Amino acid sequence: MQTPPYMRILREKGVLDVMGGQVTFGSPRVRKINDKQIRSSGEFVLYWMTSTRRYHYNAALERAIDLSISLNKPLLVIECISVRHEWSSERVLSFVAQGMVDNLSIFEDQGITYIPWIETHIDSGDGMLRKLSSKACSIIIDDYPTYLPRWVMDRASLSSEVSMEAVDSNGILPMNYADKAHKTAYSFRKHVQRSLHSALSTFPSENPMDGIQSDLSMKKSEISKLVKDLELEFTPLEWIWRVAEGGDVAKKAMAPLNIDHEVFPVESVRGGHYEAVSRLGNFIEKRLANYSEGRNDPDNPAVSGLSPWLHFGHISSFRIVKSVMEKEQWTYDSVCIEDTGKGHRSGWWGLSESAESFMDQIITWRELGFNFANFRRDHNTLDSIPSWAMKTLDEHRNDQRVTYTFEEIEGAKTGDEVWNSAQRQLLRTGHMHNYLRMLWGKRILEWSPDPETAADWMIRINDRWALDGRDPNSYTGIFWVLGRHDRAWGPERPIFGKVRYMSSANTKKKLKLDRYISRWAEDAPIPKSPPW
Ligand SMILES: Cc1cc2nc3c(=O)[nH]c(=O)nc-3n(C[C@H](O)[C@H](O)[C@H](O)COP(=O)(O)OP(=O)(O)OC[C@H]3O[C@@H](n4cnc5c(N)ncnc54)[C@H](O)[C@@H]3O)c2cc1C
Repeated sequence: MQTPPYMRILREKGVLDVMGGQVTFGSPRVRKINDKQIRSSGEFVLYWMTSTRRYHYNAALERAIDLSISLNKPLLVIECISVRHEWSSERVLSFVAQGMVDNLSIFEDQGITYIPWIETHIDSGDGMLRKLSSKACSIIIDDYPTYLPRWVMDRASLSSEVSMEAVDSNGILPMNYADKAHKTAYSFRKHVQRSLHSALSTFPSENPMDGIQSDLSMKKSEISKLVKDLELEFTPLEWIWRVAEGGDVAKKAMAPLNIDHEVFPVESVRGGHYEAVSRLGNFIEKRLANYSEGRNDPDNPAVSGLSPWLHFGHISSFRIVKSVMEKEQWTYDSVCIEDTGKGHRSGWWGLSESAESFMDQIITWRELGFNFANFRRDHNTLDSIPSWAMKTLDEHRNDQRVTYTFEEIEGAKTGDEVWNSAQRQLLRTGHMHNYLRMLWGKRILEWSPDPETAADWMIRINDRWALDGRDPNSYTGIFWVLGRHDRAWGPERPIFGKVRYMSSANTKKKLKLDRYISRWAEDAPIPKSPPW
């Protein structure tokens, strides 16, 4: 097979140097979302940060910097979180506030004006954005395909007085590379294999201010004038610090807010860039090599544990994938070119077995979720499951079943001690072991009155308690339980029909669960550090 030109370039330059093309207008990561013009007489470029909550490897920030330089205007970055969304809780707010505290120092070091802002009154976020758009040249916003960030993006595109661009920093492949929602991991994997080479050059750079001499910051007097003219109310930094501190200080600070106070902050984890990078280093050095063998070990799984930081954008999959490639000394020469585009799960990358298996999760499975949510508005409903799955679940709708109430399930009060342990891990740490998460969903299907209720209960529990909930992958996982991205399995069983079946008895045979069950027993203390 002839070597394609892009590969020659990658070989000559070395693949890790090629990564990091500049994100400008025209990049597949950037799309215009309204028909308003750039106002060159405006006072600043605004980056409204809603999901890519970081400085490094941030394509939206890179595009905002590019615009700010070309218009010769300062850049204002506002990271916002609303407390008015359905699953707003102490757990979510404290994790985000911890990320904001890290961002304050990182942005300051880079000379970029960054303001963290917590929306506490209904519609004040939309109001703030509308007011700022009256003075801005242009607005950049994160392109995120689900939940609140998508809603904010859609709404803002209607109310902004100036040009708005949505920028996608979500994954290795720009979401725009696909032209449809892929129904299976196999089909998406083929797409990954065909597109990876050009995707590498769309990576945002690690440090978007590297080599930039211009001063892009806003002067204090300019900010004060803006606050006065537009009657803006920013969140006191001292309050954000208290929320980020954790413990009683944080609880007191959050007490007046109308949020879910039962979903308490997880004291054993800290949100933000620094914690994420340190966990990544630990994973690469100590766990990656054992990923394919050890990821299902319930006591000490060889996983990254990074999904909460990925979800809130505190760390990017660019950094993670690049770290794996560096560790494995990967070059494009390692790729098995003959297999390109064939959708093989392993052997294509030319990495160790563990690294390949990790790449399949963090690229194929993770980005399948973004792809599906991007193209399918119904991605978080039962309408998104394939017709064979709906048909078989319908045929078994009236099968006899043991049911529990939602409260019994949410409170880990079922007759299945393996399941209760997994649920308690989720309630106490905002996290659940991956293999048990699959079992968790399958049993909820078995115990609820019908598939619609099962979907609703899984979403309510996962989005409420999981730190990584409300993510495209929340809905990939939940609807996988109900047959999405899967095939029909035999033998046909009660309730499940042809949808893949899992049982606690089989799980007990497959995994050693005694220690896990005692660790998450009803009267066991909440551990000081998570098992990953
Ligand atoms: C019912 C159910 C609900 C789920 N809900 C969520 C959720 O709310 N948020 C979420 O991020 N993931 C969810 N998943 C997928 C998966 O369980 C988690 O991504 C994974 O356990 C996170 O742990 P980790 O960061 O240690 O993953 P690692 O094994 O270290 O993998 C690295 C990253 O790859 C991605 N990844 C790994 N496994 C999967 C997978 N099976 N599907 C999609 N992406 C994957 C994640 O981004 C993960 O952080 C769900 C799965 C099921 C079955």
